[in-house]
Formats: sequence, C-alpha cells, structure tokens
Amino acid sequence: MHCGMCLPDCPTYNETGRERNSPRGRIALMRGIADGELEASREFAGEMSYCLGCLACTSACPAGVDYAHLLESARAEVEDRGLLDTPWRRAVRAVTIHGLFLRPRLLRAAGRMLRLWQASGMQSASRRLGLVRLLPRPLREAEPLTPEIQARFSDERIEEITPARGGRRHRVLLLTGCVQDLVFSDVNQATAEVLAENGCEVVTPRTQDCCGSLHAHNGEIEAAKRLARRQLDAIDPESYDAIISNAGGCGSHLRHYDRLLAEEPQYRERAAAWSRRLRDIHEWLVEIGFRAPLDPAAAVRRVTYHESCHLCHGQGVSRQPRELLGALPGVELVESADATTCCGSAGIYNLTQPETATRLQQRKVGHLLDSGAEVIATANPGCHLQIGNGLREAGRQPRVVHPVVLLAEAYRRERERAPE
Ligand code: SF4
Repeated sequence: MHCGMCLPDCPTYNETGRERNSPRGRIALMRGIADGELEASREFAGEMSYCLGCLACTSACPAGVDYAHLLESARAEVEDRGLLDTPWRRAVRAVTIHGLFLRPRLLRAAGRMLRLWQASGMQSASRRLGLVRLLPRPLREAEPLTPEIQARFSDERIEEITPARGGRRHRVLLLTGCVQDLVFSDVNQATAEVLAENGCEVVTPRTQDCCGSLHAHNGEIEAAKRLARRQLDAIDPESYDAIISNAGGCGSHLRHYDRLLAEEPQYRERAAAWSRRLRDIHEWLVEIGFRAPLDPAAAVRRVTYHESCHLCHGQGVSRQPRELLGALPGVELVESADATTCCGSAGIYNLTQPETATRLQQRKVGHLLDSGAEVIATANPGCHLQIGNGLREAGRQPRVVHPVVLLAEAYRRERERAPE
C-alpha cells in the first residue's frame, strides 16, 4: 500500500523526519530482507529496536496492515540471527527475559529482596553515598528507574475466590501480571473489588506466570509461546465469562494468544476460547453496565487520562476508561494534548533508547501538566512509572493513578458513608 497515512502519527518519524524511522520505511526494510534483496544487518536490527512498538501506525492505517505482527516477527529474526548480540546483552537477557520472567516464584523472591533493599534504607543510602557510580554504565543508567516494590503482593491482598457482592451475575478470572503484581498489587486489589461490586465472582490464581508480552515484544517468540501454553494448561477459559487484564501492554498480547498458538492443534481451540474472553477491565465494566458510585460530598478534582498505546492502539479501548472516569462523583475530566502518543516507556524502550524515551517523556509530561489536572489516570504499569518519573524530574507531583483505583476508592467511600 505505502500510502504513508501513518507517518504523521509515528513518534520516531516525527523525531527524525527520516523515512527509515517510519512504519512505511520499516516495512520496506522487512520486505527487502524477505525478498532476499537486502541482508539482515546490525543496522536493520537497530532500526527494529528504534521503533517504539506503540502501534499508533496501525490505528492510522486505512488498509489494516498488522504492523504489530510484522514487528514481532522482525525482532524474532534479529534475535535468531544474533544481530545485536553482545556478552553484556546476553547476560542481561539470561537473567531477565530467560530467567526471572519465566519463573514466577523466583521473580517474587527477587521482588522481596528488592523490597528489603528499599525498605531498609539501603537503596537511599547507596544513592546518597554515590555508590551507584560503581555500577557498570547500563546498570548505573537503569538504577534511577527502579520502581518501588509493594510490601504485599496480590496473593496477600486478594482471596483466591472473591465472592460477588449482591449476588453473582458473572464468573471472571483476574490476571495479576508480573511487574503489575510486584509494583502495582494495589491496582489488582482494586480491580478485584470493583468486579465484585458489580456482580462478578472473581477467581485470582496464585503466583501467576508472566503473560509473555515482554518476550514477544523483544523477539523471544518461542518463550512467549511457552508462557501462553503454561497459562492455557493452568486455566480453562471455558470456565469463565471473561478473563480480565488491567495492564494495557499485557492485555494487547494476551488478546492474541489465538494467533500465537494458531499452528498448534492441541492448543488452537483453547487459545481461541481464551482470546474470545479476554477483556480489558474498563471494556468489561462498560460491557456489563457497571454501577456509578454515589458520593454527594465528593470533592471536585480535575482528572486527565493518558492512553496507554497498547490499550488504545493495541486493543481499541479508548472510550471506556473515559466513561468510567466520567461516572466518578466530583471528577471533571479534562483532555490533554496528544493523549494517544507514546510516553516513551514502551516496555524497556527507556533502557534501550534513553535519549528518545526522555524526549517523549518530557513532551508527554508537559502536555499532562498543561491540562491543569490534579490527577493523571493511566492504565498500564510502564506508563505509570514513566510519567511518575517524568513528573518527579519536573519537580511536580500530581497524583498518577489507575482509573480502577479511583473507582474502588469511590465505592469504599460510599460504603463508609452508608448507614449501618
Ligand atoms: S509502532 Fe510506533 S514507532 Fe513503530 S512504526 Fe508504528 S507508529 Fe512508529
């Protein structure tokens, strides 16, 4: 097609104005390699990792080109050919993608150790004493991005079965994620609460696996398939009315388990049943007609909403979070400029492409602050951390929060005020 309708929406093309940094240019490079006209080189690999994977191009494309699948395949090709391979990179991937993120118990143990390091004051002491300078450069640059680990993970906050309040109308499964579980288990707890408040019996399996989006987005398709098979071996999708994700990046990948395992006869049907039932929490709440909380005494707050790329572009969920926010007592929803443009987090992009990630972060934070909002709502852990870090850099502290947490808080206030 090559019409170029996507170029104005592509953040990396807008950064450089170069065709090769655009969706059209990247597809031309992929086609050159597929047709044997071009050698897959380190430069090609660099171009595939310079792409954010934000999928803004897919929303703009009049022909429905599935760029997400193209990019994942291209990155898998880069990994298979070892085009970006270095001893350091191999070591980091061995510990993270092929280590912690394939072993849920080990990941939580590592999370607890990091929590201890933070809660004991050793992290702030090592920063004050400048010990971070002794780390190898990549770790030195990543250290300030270390998220604060929760004191309690989802298994300690949410019962395996949360009964529906006021009679069961639906039975749903809640996915707690991996980074979401360690850093935002409060969001998972709020999600279980608002589901129960709206007639859902919530099943929350213990010590859940990573969904595999981190693997698929970084060229590790076989590892992503392994994790998808593990989920499907552990969970029978037919037992639920819906399978709930509350993290934009994960939901976008989880929604396509059917495509990921399409070539595997023993998983094909189960993966299709899974994908048919996969819902983002906002999408599901609007679908079942969630109840707007009552709170006549609610203080007025201006709230703006940053759209996680994989929620709006990857899953087409954009109206529903606004419907939820608009139903909250006291909330005045204000739009910020470029709400659907990437904040620069994009999985691990702020580690692999720090300069561009920082420019996107600063631009995003500027737009959010210009909206005059006191609260910034967003529904993806990566965006939450990226925007929070950007606001700290800017010396500003509007609250950053998942929309579902605001809904759970409103229901809690309602219950507190309800006569005995
Ligand atoms: S995914 Fe985002 S950065 Fe990559 S080509 Fe598409 S719009 Fe550009």
